[in-house]
Amino acid sequence: MIPATFEYVRAKSVREAVSLLQQHGGRAKLLAGGHSLLPLMKLRLSQPEVLIDLGPVEELRGVREEGSSVVIGAMTTHDELASSPLVRERVPLLAECAAQIGDVQVRNRGTLGGSLAHADPAADYPAAVLVLDAQMECEGPAGARTVPVSQWFVDMLTTALRPDEVLCRVRVPAQTRGQGWSYTKLPHPASGYSLLGVACLLSVDGGTVREARVAITGVGPKALRLPKVEQALAGKPADEASFAEAAKLASDGLDATDDLYASAEYKRHLAAVYTKRGLLRALERVRQ
Ligand SMILES: Cc1cc2nc3c(=O)[nH]c(=O)nc-3n(C[C@H](O)[C@H](O)[C@H](O)COP(=O)(O)OP(=O)(O)OC[C@H]3O[C@@H](n4cnc5c(N)ncnc54)[C@H](O)[C@@H]3O)c2cc1C
Repeated sequence: MIPATFEYVRAKSVREAVSLLQQHGGRAKLLAGGHSLLPLMKLRLSQPEVLIDLGPVEELRGVREEGSSVVIGAMTTHDELASSPLVRERVPLLAECAAQIGDVQVRNRGTLGGSLAHADPAADYPAAVLVLDAQMECEGPAGARTVPVSQWFVDMLTTALRPDEVLCRVRVPAQTRGQGWSYTKLPHPASGYSLLGVACLLSVDGGTVREARVAITGVGPKALRLPKVEQALAGKPADEASFAEAAKLASDGLDATDDLYASAEYKRHLAAVYTKRGLLRALERVRQ
């Protein structure tokens, strides 16, 4: 459980971090909260020769409102997100998701940017940012670029981020008034990671579903939206019977994988259960 030897440098700006990444090529890794990277290094599954600590980079911190979006610095911790009055007011789905990550220690160190760059298949944020239609703002040697979340998650532990880029901010459209929302997960009893997590955003007009967005994490190599469920809900009555019917489609074509904790078959079953549960919870909030 002791990592291989590495050199440690502290970047003071995004520009410096990008230039250090370039200088060291594939031998360097960025360090945020360290709660995914350091365990991998201790297991020697990752052996970077240089760690570039983003801790001192002030421009990667903080949460602010810009027009109809909330802009969140990549180094914002899970706890800062869960307790931010702005996030709780404007993107409560994200605050609810952050509050369910790991334990107090993990939430105090782990960051939004680290989690989204790492793209663990059992991470919670991916489902939430998918239904929220977030934008990932990155910076690399060629300058800044924005990646829509629909193109961000490529495969297990793989995103659209280039090796010499830093994820700087996540731009999240604020939820609209009257929209229902929920993040519902089945946590692993030891780590808290999601055996499965479902994020829902629900817009209802006069008792009819106008738009439903549903995404799932934990079941396969990467989080994904559930378009069949979403389409089945549009125009249907916002009630338990419609939700139960639509939720049956959650496992349709789902790339569920067996792992140490649950079989693919059990995960497909849970997908329908948690989708219905998440939709009902979102509906309660439409009516609040
Ligand atoms: C016991 C335990 C329980 C946990 N439970 C949960 C849980 O319930 N749900 C959940 O979602 N997660 C859980 N996690 C993971 C935790 O949320 C991590 O904090 C998160 O996955 C990674 O964030 P980090 O800031 O620690 O990143 P790090 O570990 O520092 O980095 C992770 C990866 O991202 C890269 N990286 C980091 N920041 C950037 C950036 N700004 N730009 C580009 N690349 C970057 C690093 O180079 C590295 O490859 C748990 C972790 C532990 C140890």
